[in-house]
Amino acid sequence: MGKPDTKVKGSIEIDQELCKGCQICISFCPKDVISPSDRLNASGYLPVLLDDSGVCTGCAICAVVCPEVAIEVYRG
Ligand code: SF4
Ligand code: SF4
Repeated sequence: MGKPDTKVKGSIEIDQELCKGCQICISFCPKDVISPSDRLNASGYLPVLLDDSGVCTGCAICAVVCPEVAIEVYRG
């Protein structure tokens, strides 16, 4: 028996300099694993970070809604 697809885990990488801190990705993430950073980036925005809790599914919703294309999604 193979592993069920529901076990597939994902991860994201957020480009801290591209991110403008709009937090749209936070409101759309179904797993609630993105949160604001407390460090300003070079442009003066507060970028967001992935909580490293391992529950990101790699669904890519965050990447799709990000207006800055600052999120890269990895699966598996
Ligand atoms: S890939 Fe999906 S689960 Fe992972 S951070 Fe983005 S929206 Fe959330
Ligand atoms: S949607 Fe994009 S620009 Fe907005 S906070 Fe998330 S990563 Fe940053």
